[in-house]
Amino acid sequence: MYLTSENHHYSIENPSICPHCHRGIEPIFISSAIGKGGNNSDIFCTVWRCTFKDCKRIFVAEYTVNTPGAAIFTKFLDGTPIEPHFPEIIVKFESKFIKTYMQALQAENLGLDEIAGMGYRKAIEYLVKDYLIQKDQNLEGNIEDLALSNVIDQNFTDSRENDLKDLLKRATWLGNDMTHYLKYHENFDIEDLKNLIKLVMDEIHSIEQKRHYITNLQNKNKK
Ligand SMILES: [Zn+2]
Repeated sequence: MYLTSENHHYSIENPSICPHCHRGIEPIFISSAIGKGGNNSDIFCTVWRCTFKDCKRIFVAEYTVNTPGAAIFTKFLDGTPIEPHFPEIIVKFESKFIKTYMQALQAENLGLDEIAGMGYRKAIEYLVKDYLIQKDQNLEGNIEDLALSNVIDQNFTDSRENDLKDLLKRATWLGNDMTHYLKYHENFDIEDLKNLIKLVMDEIHSIEQKRHYITNLQNKNKK
């Protein structure tokens, strides 16, 4: 469609996804206003309504004028990020992991990538320490103030936890890059950190499921 300002027309591509429900839609255009963006560029703020019947939420999309007569989509100014799947074992922990992860995701969604990286790093620390304490109550009061890398090194000693340990170490290295002054792993970014956290969650889920069945399902076959 075209946006109009002071008799000038600017072609834009309509949003095709709702930033709230994440469905493919053809949203209804409501209004727009032109103004100045961050680096003094001309931007349009456009207001739309989602057409999916269970959503119908209003959202705002920003477009930047890049050539005379055209503006390109820059970002949504609101919306809800897509949550990862949190395995049940992790949902059941009494941990601030999920809350911290979701705050980091929200920050990332708002374009606050530096803060988001630190948030993911903090989330990993909650996940590791609370998982260990949940497995062994004796660790409570002993590991909370220890450096995360030492806690990972000194625990997860079972050979079945080798992959988990390797993944956690790497998640911590990347997380530290996003928390400290110097960055050591240039080829990896916040998406890699989120991938590693997902792999860690899957690994914990797998280890605990296997432990559950191997411990609790005994052979009752009399032959
Ligand atoms: Zn929607």
